[in-house]
Amino acid sequence: MTNLRIPGPTPVPDEVLKAMAMQMINHRGPEFKELMNDVTAKLKTVFQTKNDVLTLTAAGTGGLEAAIVNTLSPGDKVLATSIGVFGDRFTKIAQTYGADVTPLTFEWGKAADADAIRKALQADPKIKAVLVTQNETSTGVTNDMAAICPVVKEFDKLLLVDAISGLGAIDLPVDKWHCDVTVTGSQKAWMVPPGLTMVSVSEEAWKAHAEAKMPRFYFDFSKAKSYLEKGQTPWTPAVSIVFALNVALDMILKEGLANVFARHIRVAKAARDGIKSLGLSLFADERYVSETVTPVVAPDRLDVKALLKILREEHQVVLAGGQQDLSGKIFRIGHLGWVNEKDIAGVISALKVALPQAGFAGG
Ligand SMILES: *Cc1c(COP(=O)(O)O)cnc(C)c1O
Repeated sequence: MTNLRIPGPTPVPDEVLKAMAMQMINHRGPEFKELMNDVTAKLKTVFQTKNDVLTLTAAGTGGLEAAIVNTLSPGDKVLATSIGVFGDRFTKIAQTYGADVTPLTFEWGKAADADAIRKALQADPKIKAVLVTQNETSTGVTNDMAAICPVVKEFDKLLLVDAISGLGAIDLPVDKWHCDVTVTGSQKAWMVPPGLTMVSVSEEAWKAHAEAKMPRFYFDFSKAKSYLEKGQTPWTPAVSIVFALNVALDMILKEGLANVFARHIRVAKAARDGIKSLGLSLFADERYVSETVTPVVAPDRLDVKALLKILREEHQVVLAGGQQDLSGKIFRIGHLGWVNEKDIAGVISALKVALPQAGFAGG
């Protein structure tokens, strides 16, 4: 079987795959209502929230767009922190819909600095919302949300969080840290195929929503909430992916959230130790390394494209390359969702054979 080790889509367990083979049901009928209510209750447990959690049929980016258009008006000031490709994307969405965006970017491979955020908020009291990436998948850095969230709330700003590749794998207590809108995606830590984005909405976010004037139709939180009260969604949902999510949530809750987080910590450490044992070095600041994706610096002699091809064709190991400016400079091992130490051991032993073939003979 292929060892799919990219940061999404992630492998799907057999029980979850089987759930997707079920016959269609009426999405306006009683069975779907029960399913949707169950899924929503379980999602709240994993989000660690009592707030609303809305399930929208879309890629994660749709959830990010929903977070912006449902809480802001054109001209609203937004502080957009970014530590990589996905932070830049969140920034771009806010700009596209006419927010007055102040970008606050940090060097790729580093985390966002809570003090810099504080200074930016002090400098412009008119800022309404702050965009933060919990886990930046392009650089393998997890922001220190325990430090950043209180700074945003010290200034009473709306906190919009891209937690797409972290939630369900890395502890993010949504209510405790006052995340107003928290976005995740089914194909990351949830062990489910792509198709759903799940979004929590706080009281504060609902207040902002009541005044938000950005144009929206498909992604309308009010519509999603009023339908959810009937156990439905405004538009036809990806029913099979909801079946899958329901089963995957049972697996997550059976393992226990704390155990899921601990497993990701162990697996990530195995990945980092394995990489170092091969004489390679890590791309991300070691203080903020991600527990869901490990980017590896490609030494000069190493042909990343050739490496990924050898791994894929001769070892059935699929890793990810670098994105944008990092293309050819790093490769990435995804380890979120359905993953254990054995999967990582398989990656490391395949690398041991493939690295010399792709030009890297050792440290
Ligand atoms: C994967 C990812 C996204 C984008 O998700 P899509 O489902 O591809 O739209 C956004 N942010 C982060 C941090 C991600 O890892």
